[in-house]
Amino acid sequence: MSELGVDASVDVLIVGGGPGGLMAAERLACRGAGVLLCEEHSTIGDPVHCTGILAAESFEEFDLPRDATLNALTSARFVSPSGMTVTYSTPSPLATVIDRPAFDRALSERAIGAGAALRTGVRVSEVEIDPSGVYALVGESWVRARLLVLACGANYAIQRRRLNASFPRRAGWSSSCTSAAAWRPTGSRGLFPSRAAPIRTCASA
Ligand SMILES: Cc1cc2nc3c(=O)[nH]c(=O)nc-3n(C[C@H](O)[C@H](O)[C@H](O)COP(=O)(O)OP(=O)(O)OC[C@H]3O[C@@H](n4cnc5c(N)ncnc54)[C@H](O)[C@@H]3O)c2cc1C
Repeated sequence: MSELGVDASVDVLIVGGGPGGLMAAERLACRGAGVLLCEEHSTIGDPVHCTGILAAESFEEFDLPRDATLNALTSARFVSPSGMTVTYSTPSPLATVIDRPAFDRALSERAIGAGAALRTGVRVSEVEIDPSGVYALVGESWVRARLLVLACGANYAIQRRRLNASFPRRAGWSSSCTSAAAWRPTGSRGLFPSRAAPIRTCASA
């Protein structure tokens, strides 16, 4: 990639506007890096691919925004395909339910407030590494960055196709299904239908 073909240069290019990319954008921008984050969807937080349950201690550990909090959970009931149920309760809340679109929006506001630039509705489709930097095709434009952060979630297309990287060796497998359920103030219910979890179900990290 020649210098002539580059439309913009940044310190850090972040691909993906989920919580991982947004947190990275805020933290890097806070430390003075020139950050550009690109998200392929037009709106941060939409579409949602998350039930919205976070470990309660994560709010303090990562200084997460609390405005999107909906509920604190002290019990969960898991229902297996055969109808067996397991109820798990704790005296104090271990998990918190969040409004995930609002949570992601709050993270994006923090990132912008820290000085990061966010571009939505633009996909990063090519990545090339060169001694002078990393070059990425952002929509129709080439961007050069000193550092590339791939925060694409479970999508490893760039890693595999563009960087010859294999699928992560350590991966957690999980299954999930969403059903209409009445959320009670302190409890939630997990349903594991045989179609969604035919053999085994384990929580992802
Ligand atoms: C059904 C379901 C339920 C879940 N429930 C929970 C839960 O209760 N609690 C929990 O903690 N986690 C849950 N998860 C996992 C949750 O999605 C992740 O924890 C979280 O979203 C990971 O954040 P991330 O920033 O790494 O990735 P993501 O949130 O997936 O964000 C990645 C972003 O990158 C963008 N992107 C990808 N490729 C490109 C590209 N080439 N160019 C531009 N943009 C790109 C995507 O559009 C996406 O917005 C659930 C997942 C699923 C599928």
